[in-house]
Amino acid sequence: MDFSPHPLHARLVADIRRLAPALHDTQLGERDRLALFSRDLWGVLCRARLHVLPAADSFGGQAAGAAALAQALEALGEHCEDTGLVFALAAHLCACVHPLVAHGSAEQQALWLPRIAEQGWIGAHAITEEEAGSDVNAMRTMAVREGDGYRIDGVKRYITNAPVCDFVLVHARTADKGSFLDFSTFILPRNAPGLKISKQPHEKIGLRTTAMGDIHFEGVHVSEAQRIGAQGSGGPIFQASMELERTCLFAMYLGVMQRQLRLSCQRAEGRVQFGQALIEQQAVSHRLADMKLRLEAARLATARAAWSLDHPPADPSASAIAKLLVSEASIRNGLDALQIHGASGVLSGDIERQLRNALPSSLFSGTTEVLKNHLVRQLRAECRRATRAQAVPGVA
Ligand SMILES: Cc1cc2nc3c(=O)[nH]c(=O)nc-3n(C[C@H](O)[C@H](O)[C@H](O)COP(=O)(O)OP(=O)(O)OC[C@H]3O[C@@H](n4cnc5c(N)ncnc54)[C@H](O)[C@@H]3O)c2cc1C
Repeated sequence: MDFSPHPLHARLVADIRRLAPALHDTQLGERDRLALFSRDLWGVLCRARLHVLPAADSFGGQAAGAAALAQALEALGEHCEDTGLVFALAAHLCACVHPLVAHGSAEQQALWLPRIAEQGWIGAHAITEEEAGSDVNAMRTMAVREGDGYRIDGVKRYITNAPVCDFVLVHARTADKGSFLDFSTFILPRNAPGLKISKQPHEKIGLRTTAMGDIHFEGVHVSEAQRIGAQGSGGPIFQASMELERTCLFAMYLGVMQRQLRLSCQRAEGRVQFGQALIEQQAVSHRLADMKLRLEAARLATARAAWSLDHPPADPSASAIAKLLVSEASIRNGLDALQIHGASGVLSGDIERQLRNALPSSLFSGTTEVLKNHLVRQLRAECRRATRAQAVPGVA
């Protein structure tokens, strides 16, 4: 097993480290309070070509696979305190740019990728509905054949980037057979007639500098050329973007945890109580050790999941395991960091924001419970196979 950094990944990480001063925002606290996304900072990411990483060189990208994407998002998570901005970028890359690169036709890529690369277009990925959260199959948004294309009607909820997006990747039902192949994926511009997006972002506990909103489709016409992949291929396209999100989007939290651990260690070294540094108290130092253990376990699982995605066929449980470990670690480490910082950690600032930003991580890209259900289903199938193999010698 080779753990040495790939030269492309090392270069990406070094570039992002150099970008840190340009991403520093003295107004972050205020923007977080007001729930404001920064288009200016998005521009910084665009000028560094980070918003088209998975695209080919000819479109201004770096043909970044999962491992490169994970490394870049981990570095951004560490060096950019505006985790909401990094989340907006990660959702745009994993669920909008990547599906376009992986499943879009040459014509679709030639039309949409330059808009993203050159004009800094932001993508929103819409699947969730009021009655279809964890249960994606309950989706009611319909794309009905009409004229040379489809007519889309429905409402999508909790959509990252919606209030600030320039284009939308939407999944809609094109059949009603109760199967995973009932959905299709469409791409359309924000100004498509009949598309209505909530202007005010939803107020949320964390990731407040990412704009989240609802999208209404009221008789929106899309042509056949706006369908990504074949009719009925929306399910697998959605699954693939979720596997990428569970691996790469969540890598952003590894970077946050790295910064958090450094801050916590510095605080424990520098803060003297009862005549000695906090870190001399085993109760405090072991908390730091536990934070480090969780971070490293999550980082290893992410590296394995990224490797699996880059070497198909991917093991879907690898991305689920990575996501579960990262989200669990980021919430627990956020609580530990707060405890180590004492009252100073509760005041508005990086430490309290880190905890608030970690809290939603157990919900999006597959909730903790739903992913654990998936793991147990897989485990039971493996157990049954092992039992059969024991019963019939020679059968694996
Ligand atoms: C910050 C954030 C960003 C998001 N961005 C997007 C986006 O860009 N695009 C998009 O389409 N959606 C987005 N979502 C929505 C997200 O995908 C949903 O929140 C998620 O699918 C869960 O659906 P729900 O919130 O309706 O919860 P529900 O499905 O109602 O679940 C509520 C609780 O019940 C549990 N539960 C449900 N079913 C089961 C089961 N079978 N077994 C055990 N427990 C179960 C869940 O685990 C959860 O704890 C975002 C959500 C958040 C928080």
